[in-house]
Amino acid sequence: MKAIRVEQFGEPEVMKLVEVPPLQPGAGQVLVRMHAVGVNPVETYIRAGTYPRKPALPFSPGNDGAGVVEVVGEGVSEFQSGDRVYLAGSSSGTHAEYALSSTAQVHPLPEPASFAQGAAMGTPYATAYRGLFQRGEAQPNETVLVHGASGGVGTAAVQLARAGGMRVFGTAGTERGKELVRLQGAHEVFNHRAPDYLAQILKATSGRGVDVILEMLANVNLAEDLTILAPRGRVVVIGNRGRVEIDARETMSRDADIRGMVLPNTPTAELARIHAALVAGLENGTLHPVIGRELPLAEAPQAHRAVMEAGAFGKIVLRS
Ligand code: NAP
Repeated sequence: MKAIRVEQFGEPEVMKLVEVPPLQPGAGQVLVRMHAVGVNPVETYIRAGTYPRKPALPFSPGNDGAGVVEVVGEGVSEFQSGDRVYLAGSSSGTHAEYALSSTAQVHPLPEPASFAQGAAMGTPYATAYRGLFQRGEAQPNETVLVHGASGGVGTAAVQLARAGGMRVFGTAGTERGKELVRLQGAHEVFNHRAPDYLAQILKATSGRGVDVILEMLANVNLAEDLTILAPRGRVVVIGNRGRVEIDARETMSRDADIRGMVLPNTPTAELARIHAALVAGLENGTLHPVIGRELPLAEAPQAHRAVMEAGAFGKIVLRS
């Protein structure tokens, strides 16, 4: 089978499409013929060797993807050959023609969703769900700001918050991105590159502030986020690429919380709840992942560059 392999950490070009030995599922594992592979910022940090968790070399990147079950290992009764599934984790890496996952990492892909859409579920939708409901504890009628709403996690968060009965604000850095965020159901859309956008957000809440902020770039925004929070507001730190200085008094005057998260910390039972909700959302049409770009597997280096560029537009997916 063909797979993307990383022999050494470095620039995107360290990823090569090579022939590797076929995979066999062990007990409790599922072998999936991949059709679409989700590309996330985290895979670029891991490939570069800058992420705290480093896999042993060589490795195939990737946690996310969707395809068809090829064969199941001993003791697997939940899935059978031919099932359409999406993956939320893989021991072999999803940047490949085939991938191995444990049954807990495999979820049914309901018919209306394409394989490319399935490849958006494992990290972006699960992160958005956990950030919004489990860490942010957002409630119907509350105002949620998705700070960075045009990318993989942000578009998912806007759809989930809108379906959950919240008043939804989203930001993007381009007009095209703003229009995309509006189409996902945001009530109000702002440009996070406009000088006065924080004042506009505050004005849209008649000065009260927002209840929950899902923050995609905390090192740039956290200090200002605290100034546009309502009393008892929560900022959920989802993305961060550097250090930031805050005035802690802004949290004191509001009884506000700053809550960090990384998806791999999610307890097993809570992760199972997340995916049960996401599968239901795909089934009933509430969730409709936006695929901005599809590239062949061999172009993984281009995809890794693109996912780190400004001007996000939904999800970037590799065709396997
Ligand atoms: P993505 O698809 O590349 O989207 C990035 C988003 O950040 C876009 O909406 C982009 O908007 C926005 N952005 C850029 N500059 C911004 C600014 N100054 N203020 C606010 N937003 C800004 O990435 P993703 O997959 O959605 O992931 C988003 C972040 O969350 C990444 O840093 C990723 O590493 C992190 N993440 C964390 C977890 C976790 O478990 N904690 C899980 C998944 C992802 P424009 O391009 O329109 O400017």
